Amino acid sequence: MAMIGRLVLHNEPYKMVLLLCEECSGEISGKAMKAGTKFWHDHHFTCADCGIRLREAKVFQKDGRLYCDRDYKTKFVPRCAMCSEFILQVRSDLVIMTDTLV
Ligand SMILES: [Zn+2]
Ligand SMILES: [Zn+2]
Repeated sequence: MAMIGRLVLHNEPYKMVLLLCEECSGEISGKAMKAGTKFWHDHHFTCADCGIRLREAKVFQKDGRLYCDRDYKTKFVPRCAMCSEFILQVRSDLVIMTDTLV
């Protein structure tokens, strides 16, 4: 099968990276929010439970969903039966700070 080639006249000046939103699977153009190795639209970077927009605060991931600090603790972190304090083990895979791509 013959292929007719085309000369590429312009070199791409920058690397194009296609980011897909974990929530809607749409392409993210502009601002993307990142947690771990995954990306979200800025407006889809929300707590799976209360829907609060997650920004600079700590973001928790559980089963691929995002939670705010309060809901993550309420749902998944056991409380001490004596003092009702959360028993939060510090694990590096649970606490993920967001950073922003421009
Ligand atoms: Zn999205
Ligand atoms: Zn929440």
